[in-house]
Amino acid sequence: MISALDLLDQPPLTPDEYGVLEAGLTRLVGGERDIVLVQAEAILALEAIAASIAARGRRAVNVVTGPYGRLFGHWLRRGGAEVVDLETAFDEVVTADAVATALAQHRPDILAIVHAEAATGGTNPIAKIAALARDAGVVTVLDSVSAVGAEPVRAAEWGIDLVAIGGQKSLAAPPSPSAVAVSPRAWEFIEANPAAPRMSSLSLLDWRDGWLRSDRSTIPGLPSWLDSRAFIAAIERIEAEGIDAVHLRHRRAAAASVAGFAALGLSPWQRRAEARAPIVTTVRLPERGAAGDGAWGGILTAGVAGPEGSFFRVNHYGRAAALEPVLDALVRAGAALDAPAGARRDAESAATAAWEQAR
Ligand SMILES: *Cc1c(COP(=O)(O)O)cnc(C)c1O
Repeated sequence: MISALDLLDQPPLTPDEYGVLEAGLTRLVGGERDIVLVQAEAILALEAIAASIAARGRRAVNVVTGPYGRLFGHWLRRGGAEVVDLETAFDEVVTADAVATALAQHRPDILAIVHAEAATGGTNPIAKIAALARDAGVVTVLDSVSAVGAEPVRAAEWGIDLVAIGGQKSLAAPPSPSAVAVSPRAWEFIEANPAAPRMSSLSLLDWRDGWLRSDRSTIPGLPSWLDSRAFIAAIERIEAEGIDAVHLRHRRAAAASVAGFAALGLSPWQRRAEARAPIVTTVRLPERGAAGDGAWGGILTAGVAGPEGSFFRVNHYGRAAALEPVLDALVRAGAALDAPAGARRDAESAATAAWEQAR
């Protein structure tokens, strides 16, 4: 364990290190994208995207399958865009058909969607939706803050224009800096927007001109060197394990969770199996006798209850995408729900078997 004192007195980040971080993030979204690093948690990266593309006269279809989509729609409207929210119940994800219909009906300039939803345990069918968006010629925004590291993100192959990236979920990196992966078409779209922020912390254009298109000898502002170095180390750790192996670890943790909680008599809150995210498994609480929040701990947290009923979250992302944290979660839930000893044993073996079988 390093001492906190070792964190002190480090030299500022060099342009070369900045480049290493940018290159690592580019690889994580499938290459061929500029990376704008945002010296804050990913919420600011998302707000910067919205502020940069929103304008009076621009139309957006904003898919809302959880709380982050609502927030994004709010920022687009604040920027003057005309926004149609395509909202699902949060225990479901959107279908490609529903997106196709909305694109045909509203003919938007922008399609915004969240990839994997940490808050609901759902994951949207992005590859299919991206193909529709490409055919419709819309600028697409993808919030992959929690998905990146847990499932493939292929911005260039899918034709996604703006991808928000965060470290704190599946990448097991610090929450800041966050990043935006930008396509050439997105740069044109932002440049054509007279309302796109300049001289602002929300400005993507400032970073393009002040850094990406500069001689790259001086990083504008002062990037957080501790967090940036930790982020580089997190990417190196992932690449040493292999990104496919990291994805598999997330799928295994999800399969183990679903199987283990089923043995405790609990069902996934996300209704359709193919909609379940590899980052978080949400588990429906029985109508009556739901355990209180105080019972949770480890990777278990209370879900934010809505009209779809109450649930809890098994946050098996990042380093917690492993069998032990899932087994620990089953022990905690078994105790909190006062499950019979037999069911608790079954839960452990079902989770272990599902972990081993998942591909
Ligand atoms: C976690 C997450 C974010 C970042 O939000 P915080 O709650 O501030 O960590 C953004 N989008 C999605 C989809 C997320 O899961």
